[in-house]
Amino acid sequence: MIERAIRLLFPPRCAFCGTLLRREENEICGRCMAQLRFLPPGSVRPPQFVDRCVGALDYAQQVRTAVHRLKFRGRQSIAAPFGRLIAYQVRMQMDEPFDLVAWVPTSAHNLRTRGYDHARLIAAETARRLETPLVQALRRVRRTEPMFGLSAAERRANVFDAFCAEKDAPLPGARVLIVDDVLTTGATLSECARTLKDAGAERVCAAVLAVAKKTR
Ligand SMILES: [Zn+2]
Repeated sequence: MIERAIRLLFPPRCAFCGTLLRREENEICGRCMAQLRFLPPGSVRPPQFVDRCVGALDYAQQVRTAVHRLKFRGRQSIAAPFGRLIAYQVRMQMDEPFDLVAWVPTSAHNLRTRGYDHARLIAAETARRLETPLVQALRRVRRTEPMFGLSAAERRANVFDAFCAEKDAPLPGARVLIVDDVLTTGATLSECARTLKDAGAERVCAAVLAVAKKTR
């Protein structure tokens, strides 16, 4: 009864194309479901310093559009289904415990202009589903250039020392799951993992919504 009322008041929409979902559909509409390419287990090569890495989807156009809506158009509600998709992949593919879930933090500038950190929103839902604490483990200490058009070496240089570990984060000996939206070259995730391990993390695994072709 309550569920019916909620559905009437807030009809659920497809996380990718935004159309209203039918009763039998869950998070993703039938059309998107047929078009999305889920990645086979073991197909994502972990970036350096990352022990294991899972990705849910190929970074195709409709995923790109949905991520864009979340990041730049204020559609924060999309973060929850993304987070659930990631949690599902982690459950299916990584049979290991984590002490905390972290995320790749956006810059203070983006936080000010957008009002929210999209990766944090995704990670919060992933953490909730995995029943693991969400911890602000990293802080971006300097702004980085957009990665578009940079070579692999330039990307590494661009993010080098861009993050620092939060002083109070319980990182020594911790098994960390770090969440992000899209994995492209892996330079950012690699730098995050390096920073977490420098701060004492024992193990760093990564989980992302989508993976661009060149990292597979
Ligand atoms: Zn759809």
